[in-house]
Amino acid sequence: MISVGRFEVFSVINGHIRLDGGAMFGVVPKVLWQKKAAADGVNRILLAMRTLVAVDRERREVILVDTGAGDKWLAEDAERYAVTHDSAAIPDALEPYGLGAADVTDVIIAHLHFDHAGGMTGWKDQPGGDVEVRFPQARHWVHERHLAHARKPTPRDRASFILHDFEALDRAGLIRGVSGDRPDPPFDGIRWFVSQGHTPYQLLPWFEDDDAPLLFVGDMIPTAAHLPPAWVMGYDLYPLATLEEKQRVLHLCAEQNLRLAFPHDPDAGGIEVAMKNNRPSPGPALDL
Ligand SMILES: [Zn+2]
Repeated sequence: MISVGRFEVFSVINGHIRLDGGAMFGVVPKVLWQKKAAADGVNRILLAMRTLVAVDRERREVILVDTGAGDKWLAEDAERYAVTHDSAAIPDALEPYGLGAADVTDVIIAHLHFDHAGGMTGWKDQPGGDVEVRFPQARHWVHERHLAHARKPTPRDRASFILHDFEALDRAGLIRGVSGDRPDPPFDGIRWFVSQGHTPYQLLPWFEDDDAPLLFVGDMIPTAAHLPPAWVMGYDLYPLATLEEKQRVLHLCAEQNLRLAFPHDPDAGGIEVAMKNNRPSPGPALDL
């Protein structure tokens, strides 16, 4: 756990997934990326699915960022990606604070790809049946332009969205749409960083702090290995936009001591960024 502004912040691994290493590193040759992530027999690499949790005990605010792939999987589909999900991971992590799933006040849906948004809902009774909301008291924040895209994706990214991950939230009236290119801050101590490279209108929370703020970088920089600007995922719809966004973020790391929190790094929930010979490189891991 680290303190950031008024929040206690920590990162919870709620499952793992294996995705094609070539797709994860775009134009970077395997001879380079395999030094950072070992490939299995079918060229997949192991990724964590993380939830960033921010708690303000005084105000009894509990904010989740991303929720992993969830448990709405049939065996055959889960096997393709080697998906695992631990539904108890988030409640277990909240327990030491005297809190549970019913105390979650806000879920930030940075983007609606299934490996980030699936855990917001689960099967109600049996697999393949009705879907229910996992955090029924929470406001679920998403950029409305991203939601519109998720409902009508391109043939290139259609496989990344699963409608039942978010339609139950909509029916329950729990979605809070954020609008505009520079959306208003949602709460004290948090503002939005809108990213367009990976998918349109990814909504990334920036936790303010006088000494060292923290940015949840989402799939703009999924792991510490993706820190170099040209190490952009093949999945990204607009890779040059991702590259520019990363350069902007790394500049902010140098200027403002910005720390980064990752959604997929199997080893570190987040890092400080160090400058070596004028080049940003992963610094010490954060105690997330
Ligand atoms: Zn994604």
